[in-house]
Amino acid sequence: MLKLSVLGSTGSVGSQTLDVLRMYKYKVSTKLLGASKPSEKLKDQVLEFKPEYVYIEKFDGREFYGSKVINGDSIEKLLEVESDLFINAVSGISGIKSTYLLLKAGKKLATANKESIVCLGEILKDELKRVVPIDSEHSAIYQIISSEKGNPINRIVLTASGGPFLYWKKEELEDVSVDEALNHPKWSMGKKITVDSATLLNKGLEVIEAHYLFGFEYDKIDVVVHPESIIHGMVEFADGTFIANMSHPDMRIPISYAIFGGREKLEIKPLNLVELGSLSFYRPDFEKFPLLKLAIECGKRGSIYPVVLTVADEIAVDKFLSGNIKFTQIHSFIEDVVSSVNFPEPKDLLDLFQLIEEIYHKFRH
Ligand code: MG
Repeated sequence: MLKLSVLGSTGSVGSQTLDVLRMYKYKVSTKLLGASKPSEKLKDQVLEFKPEYVYIEKFDGREFYGSKVINGDSIEKLLEVESDLFINAVSGISGIKSTYLLLKAGKKLATANKESIVCLGEILKDELKRVVPIDSEHSAIYQIISSEKGNPINRIVLTASGGPFLYWKKEELEDVSVDEALNHPKWSMGKKITVDSATLLNKGLEVIEAHYLFGFEYDKIDVVVHPESIIHGMVEFADGTFIANMSHPDMRIPISYAIFGGREKLEIKPLNLVELGSLSFYRPDFEKFPLLKLAIECGKRGSIYPVVLTVADEIAVDKFLSGNIKFTQIHSFIEDVVSSVNFPEPKDLLDLFQLIEEIYHKFRH
């Protein structure tokens, strides 16, 4: 039996992880489920999967429906959980601490939490190369590289659906509502990442994520807009051959690949290329989506900039979702933060949290 722990189990990727586990109950035992707070959903999951432990960030009790509790203050106890693989499906920067702890302790980690990779990139450079990605584009690249071991690579290509505003004019973006930004054409995801996909900042974070996960320089990571979202990632090899990873968009594929390290049977809508007829590809419009450009620049600058970008975005998206700024101000807000900060580069987790705190303190209001 494979022993598995899932942090962020009540979120979008977490719930889809449990969908996969439900099909493979005879192969996997769930050691831990985790969420930020107690909820009906977490209760139902705990009663169904009966994990030995439940991680609840903000919770004081010692037990939760029969499972032993680890909370935010005792997060180090995660390391005592006897688990072959940890999945970090937490949304946003709250996923950083667990990623750090688990990697530092040499645990096997699969993560959908790109913020932790982007923010820990400079301080955990070597450890991050061991991470199994769940982010669909990175999983695609990972799958291709894993099956092409040792073959020299020219570059990798991340595809972007283009988000809900791909065909909108730049001026029309001024009046985007929260509902319109949350209406992603291809993927059903949590709110934060859905807004990030609408601004294309998500793709920028993914470029940085790819840089730290796979160790490619930025000039070897391309972004191509591909509205059908059938190709999730491509690798161009030294002989000019491209290998693409294709399927209907369904997070259960990268999740299942991360858990089993290979291909298990899934009930997925069959891909019919003749019915699809054609696939299209465009260069991203940096004018209309300046955050993609800004993110790649922050990645290239390295040092504190990937962290500043990530935290500024977290604040900006919150402000947008609560109606305090307009959609287009997400960019101007983040640009202001990035151009006005001057902090020393973090050397460890403590430094990093101090940096995050200071950015929050200075720019939240
Ligand atoms: Mg992605």
